[in-house]
Amino acid sequence: MHLDGSCHCGSVKFSVRSAEPYPFMRCYCSICRKTAGGGGFAINLGADKASLRVTGKRHVRVYVARLQEEGMAERTSTAERHFCGRCGSALWLWDPTWPELVHPHASAIDTPLPAAPGS
Ligand SMILES: [Zn+2]
Ligand SMILES: [Zn+2]
Repeated sequence: MHLDGSCHCGSVKFSVRSAEPYPFMRCYCSICRKTAGGGGFAINLGADKASLRVTGKRHVRVYVARLQEEGMAERTSTAERHFCGRCGSALWLWDPTWPELVHPHASAIDTPLPAAPGS
C-alpha cells in the first residue's frame, strides 16, 4: 500500500510503500512516549525503506536518544528519529539494525489507514 505523509507545517512531505500499514504497533518505550506519544504511546508502521521519498529534506532533523538504563552503562540508541525541524512533528524512525525497514509514525500519515484485522 502506498502511503503519503507530512508534518504539520507542510515543510516535509514523504511517501513510502508498506506491506503492513495497519496501525496496531503501539510503542510504549520511554523515548517514543516522550517525543511522539500524545496518548501515552506512539503508533509506528512498518514500511519499505527503499521506497521512501522525501521532499523538504532540508527541514528534516534527526534525534538520537541517549539511553540510561538502571545498572547499565549509558549508551546511544541505534534508532534515528526523524522529525520536522520547523514544527516538531515526529515523522519516522529508522534503525540501521533493520536497514530495509522504516517506521513512519501513524500520526504523520495522511492516507486513510486500514483497520487492523480483528479490531
Ligand atoms: Zn513541519
Ligand atoms: Zn519507541
